[in-house]
Amino acid sequence: MTAEPKTLRFATQAVHAGAAPDPATGARVQPIYFTNGFVFDSTEQAADIFAMRKTGFSYSRGSNPTVAALERRVAALEGAKAAVAVSSGQSAVLLVMMTLMQTGDAYVASPRLFGGSLGLMRRLEGRYDLTPQFAADLTPEAFEAAITPQTKAIICESIVNPCATVMDIEGIAAVAKRHGLPLVIDNTLASPALIRPIEYGADIIVHSTSKFLGGSGQVIGGMICDAGTFDWKAQGSRYNLINDPWPDYDGLIVSDRFPEISFAVACRLFGLRDLGPGLSPMNAFLTLTGIETLPLRMERHCANAKAVAAYLKDHPAVDWVSYPALPGQKGEALANRYVPQGPGSIFTFALKGGEPAALAFIANLELVSHLVNIGEIKSLVIHPATTTHRQLRPEERAAACVGPETVRLSIGLEDPEDLIADIEQALAKVGAQIG
Ligand SMILES: *Cc1c(COP(=O)(O)O)cnc(C)c1O
Repeated sequence: MTAEPKTLRFATQAVHAGAAPDPATGARVQPIYFTNGFVFDSTEQAADIFAMRKTGFSYSRGSNPTVAALERRVAALEGAKAAVAVSSGQSAVLLVMMTLMQTGDAYVASPRLFGGSLGLMRRLEGRYDLTPQFAADLTPEAFEAAITPQTKAIICESIVNPCATVMDIEGIAAVAKRHGLPLVIDNTLASPALIRPIEYGADIIVHSTSKFLGGSGQVIGGMICDAGTFDWKAQGSRYNLINDPWPDYDGLIVSDRFPEISFAVACRLFGLRDLGPGLSPMNAFLTLTGIETLPLRMERHCANAKAVAAYLKDHPAVDWVSYPALPGQKGEALANRYVPQGPGSIFTFALKGGEPAALAFIANLELVSHLVNIGEIKSLVIHPATTTHRQLRPEERAAACVGPETVRLSIGLEDPEDLIADIEQALAKVGAQIG
């Protein structure tokens, strides 16, 4: 769905964008439209909607009013022209890749990515011959060096899961522009409250809304945002779903009919109508509600994470902390430039006692929950090498900055003194158990 013009400031948009009092009943809260189908006015309207001559609701796999409200809100917060909601962050990454590419194509990817994205990329390579061309390091020069004539896109995260590295989005966007490639940014760990990648030249944004956008760890969801900035026309049949006629839609050419939101429309037609991973209206409703407090939560997430990271850095049992907002950290300059509020609340650290100490630390925590997800109100911990990054090859784990000694934290909104006290008692027990 198309977003509203950006006139209101961020915190106001988080509360209001994309939803209004219900015209039918006056309900102030966005109603949940639990209906699969929508009655057509006429047979002509039904045919027009199916042929994409007119827009309108027909079947909730492709679009639904509650889901559309969420799409408009996230599009507004990202400064995008349109957004498409999907059933998970994983399917957001998948649909972007499937819409841009077909068998035999390639794309340049950051070597440091969420484990699920790396796993998906390996699977798609093996089964569908979509080749990830991993940059040798995180610099724009390394991304540029990896480009070949087969390259169809550049994919990276704004803030990297799990090590909190802040990427040089503007530098990588300049490379993408020079080579006529769309830049896809997974903005899950930053959320638009910390970074709006479109302002730095990104063309497509993906989110796992299961994390900070929803905020409370209740529902899984994903989002694809179309900046409307990429010149698809200039690339012709390289992007054939966007620039070539769809014979089954009376020869529809998406970039002619929808020049400002071509990518979002192609994702909706192919990704939702054909492939099918739409978002439930209930999940859209809960995510929409969560977003209303996003700016407030991100402020506190960042402040708490910084306090915990600073505490860990000075602890004698700790080997290193990867949180680039701390002075003297690698990547500090990029963090200061892109995220003055702080690089979110997900980061890694390592104990001097290596893997045994890392596992004992996790087992000894009481307040901080041991579980796989991230980016919610409660503080969470996991050992990535044996869980989220388990399926990767050892060299891929190393490139993603996940070693056997690495612990991942997702710092929530508790009082930071209580979090530090819990970490302190867990570290003391590790010292007594392992020495
Ligand atoms: C969690 C996550 C995903 C996958 O999202 P799901 O909603 O769990 O499917 C993708 N990218 C990043 C950066 C993530 O943290």
